[in-house]
Amino acid sequence: MEILITGGAGYIGSVMTEYLVSQGHDVDVLDNLSRGYRDAVAVNANFIEGDISDTLNIFDEGKKFDGIIHLAAHSRVEESVQNPALYWKNNVIGTQRLLEFARIREIPRFVFASTAAVYGVSAASPITEDTPPSPANTYGMTKLTMDMAIESYAKAYGITGTSLRFFNVSGTFRGRSERHLPETHLIPVATARIQRNEAVTIFGSDYPTRDGTCVRDYIHVVDLARAAELALGRSTDGSYKVFNLGNGNGYSNLEVVKTIGDLLGVAPQIEFADRRSGDAPELVASSLRITEELGWTPSIPALIDIVKSSLEA
Ligand code: UDP
Repeated sequence: MEILITGGAGYIGSVMTEYLVSQGHDVDVLDNLSRGYRDAVAVNANFIEGDISDTLNIFDEGKKFDGIIHLAAHSRVEESVQNPALYWKNNVIGTQRLLEFARIREIPRFVFASTAAVYGVSAASPITEDTPPSPANTYGMTKLTMDMAIESYAKAYGITGTSLRFFNVSGTFRGRSERHLPETHLIPVATARIQRNEAVTIFGSDYPTRDGTCVRDYIHVVDLARAAELALGRSTDGSYKVFNLGNGNGYSNLEVVKTIGDLLGVAPQIEFADRRSGDAPELVASSLRITEELGWTPSIPALIDIVKSSLEA
């Protein structure tokens, strides 16, 4: 397939690009490098530096794509609460312009990186795709808004839309691992702190969970890439589908930090801080729907193996 991957210089995007190229697809990567790295892009992909809002100018009418995988987005929960303008502009207005590109150029498939953050605080556990969304932060709101936009584009214009709701992603694939600046995600932050013999800060110890710290469901980044390929393979019937992607097991922040410490052979020092704004207490996925409908199952389901893989960074 001829695939356009937006955000293909970021962590998840660079893994998806590498994976899909290795599966024989032709991939164009569009990334404005605001948060990505040129050197993370697979050598066999065609790289274009540019913005998602500008695709109609970037690609001429002769350029055909079988599908778009849209990953380019801002994705820091706390930043989204502090600077919502940035998130509505990039994640919503930018994505709508990309949808327009898909509509005008008649690109039949649109796969979107949605998020567990759309479910928010009121969620049941495990969360199914029928759990009513209730985002606890601007990041989740912007992603939910675009899920709805894609659904309406699917219905009206026949674009086959798929929203993949990623839970917490980690792990390394062919040298590509979490590489955010600043790094805010628990596994890489805690790993770096433990390696430097510094205390790991855990945000919030009074959540209604088994040990008072937030609970998350971790998925290996290569399993997301496999899911994206399956989503591209859906029949182009103009339908819209949502799929959760997690392992169905929740781990508290304390358990995650202890797992990292065990693998590094160090008892981690821990300090508790106030809750981080926008955090939902517990986000654990039921991924039954994608298993039943697309045959996806995680290849690396255990947290310990995901953390081991992330330590290869
Ligand atoms: N977290 C933490 N200390 C850190 C980084 C993250 O306690 O140094 C917590 C964060 O508050 C949340 C969980 O780890 O409860 C997962 O956060 P992360 O940013 O990794 O992913 P998110 O769930 O926000 O997508």
